[in-house]
Amino acid sequence: MPSHDLATLRLCDLDIIGYSVGGEETVVAVPQLDVCFDIGKAPDQVICINFVLLTHGHIDHAAGFAYYLSHRQFNGQNPGTIVAPKGLLGPLRQILDAWADLDGNKIPGNLIGVGPGDEVQIKPNLFARAFPTDHCRGSVGYCILERRKKLRPEYVGLSGQQIVELKDRGVTVDYPLELPIITYLGDTRYIDYSMLDYVANSRILVVECTFFEQEHADRADAGRHIHVRDLPRLLGNLRNEHVVLVHITQRTPLAQARRLLKESLPADLLAKVVILMDHRQRRQSQ
Ligand SMILES: [Zn+2]
Repeated sequence: MPSHDLATLRLCDLDIIGYSVGGEETVVAVPQLDVCFDIGKAPDQVICINFVLLTHGHIDHAAGFAYYLSHRQFNGQNPGTIVAPKGLLGPLRQILDAWADLDGNKIPGNLIGVGPGDEVQIKPNLFARAFPTDHCRGSVGYCILERRKKLRPEYVGLSGQQIVELKDRGVTVDYPLELPIITYLGDTRYIDYSMLDYVANSRILVVECTFFEQEHADRADAGRHIHVRDLPRLLGNLRNEHVVLVHITQRTPLAQARRLLKESLPADLLAKVVILMDHRQRRQSQ
């Protein structure tokens, strides 16, 4: 039985499922890529995903990590992997140990610490790269990149046999190509993320936009969050095909957020943007 009515979106042939309300819970999963950005309270639908990428230690983003690991064991699945900023590994281990004492069972799981620029392999050609964000000490975002080898232009049109012959002679016929698929900023205040080309060129960008109302500008600054006033300069410098807004405060009703978003963005940017929680699936009444 699903523990939540999650939002579901389909962009670039990928399903994006999750729940995100600022201060309450944030979890955003992409099942085809086998990653879950933050874990929220570990809704049942994401337990089967093998990699959880934590951006920072705030409880609305990280509370469910021990349950996620424990429930995989309960389900007979392989131990899950938690990727997190290096500084969080000690406290995460302490929490797992405390739960093991309470529960009477050790909780299996892989914990991997990352810093800016570090990569974790998700699948043979798929990697998660951490980059710095400006929210709290050590906070990071993640970009999921696919690496492919592409034939050098001078060899395009040759037969398979000719390519094999070139390779046999020691000629390098291809070059590595990096395709940024989806970037998740996690919580952050505004920074010019166009400095990171893989963020700027990521096909999908998941952005926190916590505050929308003028009188919440101070709250955005104090909590190091993005306010809708930051979106035009943030998105204007990036080249993403789709932008998914998450982490909207409970203080602003979604209809009001939608209206203020429309007032804040030029039409070309607005056309790319969706609000995750506008795509929440209502469970069928039993
Ligand atoms: Zn936070």
